[in-house]
Amino acid sequence: MTLTVMADIIQAMNREQLDKIRQVFFTCNRKELMGLLNELLYTMEAEELLPPDHLISRNYDTAQANPEIHTLPGNLRDARDAIFPYFWGTDGWFSKLHLENVKGPANYASLVGAIACLLKNPNLCVDTYSQRSNELEVKAITSLANLIFYHTQQPWGVFTMGGTISNLYGGRVGLEKVIPGAMQKGMQSERPAGVVSEAAHYSNRTVAGWLGMGTEQLYTVATDNSCAMRIDALARRLDELYSDGQKVAFVIATFGSTDAFGVDDIGDIRQLIEDKARQYDMPIPQLHVDAAVGWVLCFFHEYDTRNNPLELEPDVLADVEQAKRKAGTLRYADSITIDFHKMGWGHYPSSAFIVNRRDDLQCLFRDVEQIPYFSEAQYRRDPALFTLECSRPAIGPYSVMAALNGIGLVGYQILIAHGMELARYTRQRLSELDYCKVLNDRCTGTHAVWWVLPKGRNAGDIIKKMESGDISAGDAQRYFTEVKHQFDKRTAVRKPERDALLSYTTSMGYYPRGLALPAWKAVFFNPHTDHRVVDDIITSIEEL
Ligand SMILES: *Cc1c(COP(=O)(O)O)cnc(C)c1O
Repeated sequence: MTLTVMADIIQAMNREQLDKIRQVFFTCNRKELMGLLNELLYTMEAEELLPPDHLISRNYDTAQANPEIHTLPGNLRDARDAIFPYFWGTDGWFSKLHLENVKGPANYASLVGAIACLLKNPNLCVDTYSQRSNELEVKAITSLANLIFYHTQQPWGVFTMGGTISNLYGGRVGLEKVIPGAMQKGMQSERPAGVVSEAAHYSNRTVAGWLGMGTEQLYTVATDNSCAMRIDALARRLDELYSDGQKVAFVIATFGSTDAFGVDDIGDIRQLIEDKARQYDMPIPQLHVDAAVGWVLCFFHEYDTRNNPLELEPDVLADVEQAKRKAGTLRYADSITIDFHKMGWGHYPSSAFIVNRRDDLQCLFRDVEQIPYFSEAQYRRDPALFTLECSRPAIGPYSVMAALNGIGLVGYQILIAHGMELARYTRQRLSELDYCKVLNDRCTGTHAVWWVLPKGRNAGDIIKKMESGDISAGDAQRYFTEVKHQFDKRTAVRKPERDALLSYTTSMGYYPRGLALPAWKAVFFNPHTDHRVVDDIITSIEEL
């Protein structure tokens, strides 16, 4: 064989391989895809028959020591085999016994949206990369903005990777407002501060660090016993910062704290930050609201509490009235974080950052010269002009529009009222036990946090004494150890088929006399959870 013949043969083989790759990996073979999807669905259904904590165990050692990549082109079943043990080893959180956190089953309307999105794989950075998917983002953001601010003229926003990043956008706008030109020139010898409550999510500290302000420039303000920011304490904090000549870039209010569902009063905060800025002749801070969890209260904006069409029980109806009132205060926010992948039962990532007035985003705008390959970008509609990210997934818009229109406003009301009802019921059942104490009975929402002490103790008395300072720090710690010990005991003797999975927080967001209160925690978020699950929790506590 001559060299040229050899080269021809190799070329022919390569062409054949290329053809095969085109055929297998870049041509839609509907039958095969449906077959694989069916297999995954069967596996998931099988898993749903098991108690929630019976997954196969992890093998991190090999994950690092022995990563592997096939050498030769294979097929789609190789793709399945590569991920299958990890798929089986991952909890879909479908079980009604999962109450640990705001982590739950995604809904199937969202799945339809998400699959549609994955099939086209649009990139939301500019309209030219994603066409109607960018339009869908505008629609999804506007729908959410109308739901949240209720009356808004000019909202705009984007979907982000998560609540942390949405909060980052809020903080960033504030920084630019109080130090104009910071994007180009940096802090210019200013030392800007941010303010949150003691019940705020840790992501706000991350934000202060990543914005270059420094985590120590994020100041916390005390909460009251409903885990809401104390307005008197906020006033004192602003006095201190302004007297010291520091600019306050943002106040990030919490609307639905992660553990206890504490809700800050957005109207009062708005009034105060404007008064204080005026008093000290300082720029008004951005009022960003972290409603990653609590935004769902907005579904009750238009609930007719007088005629009560869903026939909610009086307690739940009272919660819904509170929810309506609180949701009404969101219109005083400049910007907001919502996590549709939490209480919207959407797929990750479906977090949105939304501003009440689109002009607020102008301070983040880049010049078209800075983004040469998007020279056609339009100021009216292309997020690439201000987003932190370049490529952005479209899961958020697809998940939101599919789920909101599948489940509907009334559907969401029913789901959230169901969670509230179970949280109420849990608190009520716990209040019948002297050695237990609900810590968030003044919060509206779907969460319960409480103490379980050994039988014979009066938990209510103990907390009162902590509030009045009649218990030493040492004694308090001993009670906290008991709360943890009871929790560990239940975990150790838990009946997997009967007993719900709860979680434990070392600090639920209220600090009487500066004491961080630990607590047992349950989030009533899974639509399958019912009264029976709560009754069984009570039984498991009584059996300790
Ligand atoms: C979960 C949560 C966040 C962070 O959101 P991610 O989407 O997990 O990044 C921020 N704030 C609150 C109140 C949260 O509950």
